[in-house]
Order: sequence, then C-alpha cells, then structure tokens
Amino acid sequence: MFQVYCHIHESPVLLSWSRVESMYNSDEGPVIDWHCWCGARGSLIAGVRSEPRRFEPVVMDPPAPPDPDDVATLSTTDDARPLAG
Ligand SMILES: [Zn+2]
Repeated sequence: MFQVYCHIHESPVLLSWSRVESMYNSDEGPVIDWHCWCGARGSLIAGVRSEPRRFEPVVMDPPAPPDPDDVATLSTTDDARPLAG
C-alpha cells in the first residue's frame, strides 16, 4: 500500500499496488502513475508529491532522427579504416 493525495477525494488516500498504472524515472525522482478507487488519475513524484494527470495516455514524441554527423561515424567509410602502412 502507498499513500497519495487524491484531487477528487481532496484528501490522502491509501492505494494498493494494483492501482499502479506505470512507474518511471524523472528528473525529480521515481514517478508512480496511480489510478484511485474513485477514478481519479495522478502521479506520485519521488514518493512525496501527488499531481493530477490531465492528459491520458501520455504520448511520447517519436525519437528525433539521428544526427547526420553520428550516422557518418557509424557507416563504414574510408575514415573508419585503420591507416595502412
Ligand atoms: Zn480518489
């Protein structure tokens, strides 16, 4: 069990681990996305701060295309071969 502040209950609520939707790391620490018994959804940040989740599901931007300079270093070019002689 863990405690969150539910913005619909407007009080602290104990949730079981079955109420966890996802976990991930952020710059502020580990984040638990929770789903309260009342239907509210929020994020518990670093185990202390609960924030409502407004947008669901969270859609990640696709990864940026590789930098052309990085691609060049991955390809087999004359530059990648050891110098002969
Ligand atoms: Zn609730």
